[in-house]
Amino acid sequence: MKLSRTVVLESYPLTRRKFKAVKEIYEDYSGLLLILTEYAFENKIRNPIKLRSSIPDEVKEEYELPSHYYYTACQDAVTRVKGFLEKKRKGKAKTERPVVKNVSLWLDDVLWDYKRFPQFNTLKNGKKILIIRLTTKRRPIKLPLKPHKLFFKYLSEGWRVKAGVKLKLVEEERKVLAYFTFEKEFDEPEVTGSFIAVDYNADNISFGNHDFLVQVKTGLGRMTRFYSDVRREVQRTHLTGWKKKLPSRKGRELLKKFGQRKMNRKVDLQRKLALRLVELAGELNATIILEAIPKNFNQKVVKRRRKREKKLRNILHNIGMNSFQRFVFEKAVEHGVPVVFINPAYSSQVCPNCGAFRVKPNDDALRQRAFTCPVCGFTADRDFAAVLNLLGLFPFSPKADEPPAEGSVSPVTLVAEANLLHQKNSLVIISQGLKRQ
Ligand SMILES: [Zn+2]
Repeated sequence: MKLSRTVVLESYPLTRRKFKAVKEIYEDYSGLLLILTEYAFENKIRNPIKLRSSIPDEVKEEYELPSHYYYTACQDAVTRVKGFLEKKRKGKAKTERPVVKNVSLWLDDVLWDYKRFPQFNTLKNGKKILIIRLTTKRRPIKLPLKPHKLFFKYLSEGWRVKAGVKLKLVEEERKVLAYFTFEKEFDEPEVTGSFIAVDYNADNISFGNHDFLVQVKTGLGRMTRFYSDVRREVQRTHLTGWKKKLPSRKGRELLKKFGQRKMNRKVDLQRKLALRLVELAGELNATIILEAIPKNFNQKVVKRRRKREKKLRNILHNIGMNSFQRFVFEKAVEHGVPVVFINPAYSSQVCPNCGAFRVKPNDDALRQRAFTCPVCGFTADRDFAAVLNLLGLFPFSPKADEPPAEGSVSPVTLVAEANLLHQKNSLVIISQGLKRQ
């Protein structure tokens, strides 16, 4: 299983001369990219090699770039066209044709000295500067980058850097940002005999096994609602244009800012949780059971009916289940912790004690987020019931009128690991006893 990570390195401020040379390349590249994207879209070209061979001479004359920039610009253009068509297919495209914005300068192994990577200069104080040599219209120029802890961590842990690097310009500070991608191949660990099942919800994440159950209150659902209120307010108060129907420039900036902030907080929390979970599983030598399907990782999942699948996906997308599952999966692969995916169908409607099927909670129970089985009287927090079900505690056929299977549930003790996440205040871990009536 191959994992890849992107690392961004900032450069030291460049001299005016150097920055001008980079900017010159960047501007020509942007112009070329715009033309190539249009051209690829118009002529339905999806292959960068084909696109490159069909560039008209006038274009080559107008943009006298070193030839490898043509290679990468063609790849960039084709990627953008494909991305646009994919969006359009899903009905998410806002325009009729691909719009080129957010351009970064794509480099291949020739456009920077990939072969000599990593090349460092050491300052007097022992600090290391990563040097990459960028091909420009004239002489190559050296870009001094600031490597950080994470960068060195990937280097020392045997991740390989890919030849493709992207550059962005920070005009005001005369800096560049370099995006490196690291890759590493990991073995897929063998599934162990013990398990930890994870149930992901808007406001909490519950996990555990026969020995313990833990619920971490994340408040992600509440946070999402908060930010959507903020969004609505910005949209209401920052309007412009004839009839005042369009968001103003300031409004658009605010929306972007809040959107980014929300995403950062969510991702940060999810990453931390994922790491703690993986560490815990590693310590217990347990396999993690996840429900549902992170995209592209669906090989282990039993197929379900299409329509239900789609609906489920939408709900899960909104509360960020996909990204959480992905973080857990990737961290687990990295730490050698095995993960299995289990079809979660009905997990909230089956009694984990007796297997009674389609247990409909009443209003009271819903409010308390409780699960009570009308057949055997088993009571638990709703999300804990889901965790127990994911553990596969109902190997018997789920029919309400069958008698409960004797001894199908191991005794459950509950432990709350209060400092599990090393996150004070923002997370409250609660525990709730399982009781039998
Ligand atoms: Zn029951």
